[in-house]
Formats: sequence, C-alpha cells, structure tokens
Amino acid sequence: MDVIKNVVCPFCGTLCDDIECFVESGHIVKTRNACRIGHSKFTHKKGAVRYTEPLYRENKKDDFKKIDFDTAIEKTAEILVNAKKPLIYGFSATECHAHIEGMKLAEQIRGIVSNTAEVCHGPSVWALQDVGYPICTLGEVKNRADVVIYWGSNPMHAHPRHMSRYGVFPRGFFRSRGRKDRILIVVDPRETATAKLADIHLKVDPHKDYELISAIRSALKGFEVQSETIAGIPKETIYETVEILKNAQYGELFFAMGVTHTVGKHRNIDTAIELVIDLNAQTKFTLIPMRGHYNVNGFNQVCTWISGFPLCVDYSRGFPEFNPGDTSVTDSLLRGEADAMLNIASDPGAHFPQNAVKRMSKIPLICIDPHETPTSVLANIILPPTIAGVEDTGTAYRMDGVPLELKKVIDPPKSTLADREILKRISKKVGELLK
Ligand code: SF4
Repeated sequence: MDVIKNVVCPFCGTLCDDIECFVESGHIVKTRNACRIGHSKFTHKKGAVRYTEPLYRENKKDDFKKIDFDTAIEKTAEILVNAKKPLIYGFSATECHAHIEGMKLAEQIRGIVSNTAEVCHGPSVWALQDVGYPICTLGEVKNRADVVIYWGSNPMHAHPRHMSRYGVFPRGFFRSRGRKDRILIVVDPRETATAKLADIHLKVDPHKDYELISAIRSALKGFEVQSETIAGIPKETIYETVEILKNAQYGELFFAMGVTHTVGKHRNIDTAIELVIDLNAQTKFTLIPMRGHYNVNGFNQVCTWISGFPLCVDYSRGFPEFNPGDTSVTDSLLRGEADAMLNIASDPGAHFPQNAVKRMSKIPLICIDPHETPTSVLANIILPPTIAGVEDTGTAYRMDGVPLELKKVIDPPKSTLADREILKRISKKVGELLK
C-alpha cells in the first residue's frame, strides 16, 4: 500500500494540506487526518454514479446515450454559439486553470460567467467593495488570536477542522496554551454544535443580526443601548461583550451564511466590517469569510484578474460588465432570459431557487461533473471530468486567499479529461464555428 502525504483536501475552504491518502490497486482505501466530509471526497462510495464517458440526449425526456468526446464537444460548442444569452456557471470545485479557460470561453460566446458565490458569499463581496476588507491569514489567527467570534457559522458541521487547525484549539506562537488562551464567542439563533463549545453564546433572534451589530457598535462608541434587549440579547450582555472585544489583544471575526442569507444580506456584512474597522481604533481585529467550496475564492481571484470583477460578469456587449442582480446567472434564469447553460463543478439543480431550476430544465444544459447530481439529471450533455485534487493537479485558494497546490493522488478513469482540457476543447471548437 502506498501512502501519499501532504495532500490538500479538495472539499471546504479550510483547504487542509496535511491529509494522508493510502492507495491500493489504484484506489484510495483509507485517509488520515481528513474529517468525515473530506474522507468521503477521497473515497468512492458504493452505488454513487461516476460518469466515465460523455452522454447525450436531444430531448430531456429521452434516456442518455453514450457518445464520443469529439461529438459531445462539437454539440456543446453549437449550443453555446447558437444561444443569445448563454450562461457559464459553477467553478468552485475545480482548479484555477479551468477558471482561466472558462473565462476565455465566456468572452468568446459573449455570455454571463459566474460562480457559486452568487448564492453564498456574494453579499460579502458587495459589502467589501463598499467598505473594505480588513482580513488576515489563518496562520495569524492561530498564532495571535485571543478572542474568536464565529458569527452565523457552524464550523463543527461545515468546516469540521477549522477550529482545531486555526480558529480555537491549536497552540500558536503567542497562544501556547491553545484553547485556554482564547475566548470563543458564537452568534447563532440555534444551539449548534459550535455554540455548545463557546464561552459566550449570543442567541440572536433570527434575521436580527444587523440590529445586534449596530447595538455593539454604538456601545463600543460609548452610546447607551436604548432598549433592555436588542435582537433577543440583554443589554448587559452587549456591554460585557463589548468589553471583551475592546480588551482583545488580537480579535478575529469569522462569518458565514447566517448573515449573508438572512434579512439585510450584504448590509449585515457592511456593518460587520465597519464593526471590525471601529474595533481597530482600540485594538487589533480582523475578519475572514468562511468560504464554502475549496476553490470558490480561486474563481473570484481569477475572474478579477481577467475581467476586473469577481463574479456575475456579462460579456454580451463584448466587454465585461458587472451589476449583480442584473448580470447574475440566477437572475438571468429567473427572468427567463438565459437560453443555454454550461454548468461546471457545482450543483445549481440542488441549490438554486426553484424557478431558476425550472428554467434550467427547459433550456439546453451542459453539465461537466464527475458524478450524478440534481443538475446532471436535467442536462442534455454530460461531459465527464477528472476530479481535481484527487486525480489531477492544480491551484486552489483557501478562504483567506492563500494559494495551495492540489496533488494528484490516483489516476483518473480512462476517457475522462481535466476540466481545463474540456473547456479548452470547447473553446477551440467555438472558435472554428465563429470563423
Ligand atoms: S475541514 Fe474541510 S478541507 Fe479539512 S479535511 Fe474537512 S472537508 Fe477537507
């Protein structure tokens, strides 16, 4: 049995880079250090459908038939070239060279290109464009943070090794006693597995985060809190919390869907960022969004280098335009404008609003995904890729913007191609058709 060490886990934004994979007869049979989610990404589950050959059907009511790669690429290119408002969406579970190829293709076909941040940390992006981005790396948190807040996030379930590698438990250079050297504050309406570990659990009323952050900001600036309770939290607790934040030597705010998906959305993040800026007048405080997919951040980086904008980029007028709410994939589907879609490395069929999925079920849909998903079953064409970080190399960006090299651990099934290669071949064909 071979043991491959220092493998980077291609699942969540924690991007753990200390995984060991045990390989026997070309299969990963065991992992060490990975959490349960990471482990399941590395190992094949019995009964899971893995696509190893391209599939095609003209009519979505028909069964899929196997076709060869060249024909599948040709049909894909024809669909994209003939569409008036094509979409390219996904990208968060693949590596950065696939992102580059996707951007090139989007410009060629004058489509909208975007990633899963649309339904995730998009509101954080809109907020940081407004008020700034006082971030640090996870290593800074591990070595320095003595006050750590998880606001609207439940890492015990969503980023299982985040607290043990960086946020709470590790012994750092200036935090040699690990957990004992940190105060953990969790803000969540529910008593989550993360909240159970907290020193202070602020059980905020659902959708009232904006009010609570505003009250903390006013108390921090010396104003009196006007009501006995704000957002379900007694005013004394707010004052106590402010004292803890002010007295931090190095504070960290991690935040996630509990504030990006609830009432207020990007305005919740606006005010949270401004709280961190206010705190820096008295101490040192930074924030990090709990990015979801392992390379959702990477797409936003690549998209910005290439187009100037992080997501929701519309090339329909021949140059990049960015106006989320208008130039987003979700809105284009909801308005019924999109007339073809290429989905890669994501599952909008499971995660988009129902009416957007209905539109996906009516228009030609191409899906580049290794496994059967609620999206792939709506497709007309399925192109089978290798799995980046397991069967292929590449670059991914951690939630704090640190790039890491993905390893190839095993060989992919024959007749699969890397995501970047599939997109490159589609691009080439599109170029020929557009001549
Ligand atoms: S915490 Fe995230 S990156 Fe780390 S092993 Fe688990 S799923 Fe993988």
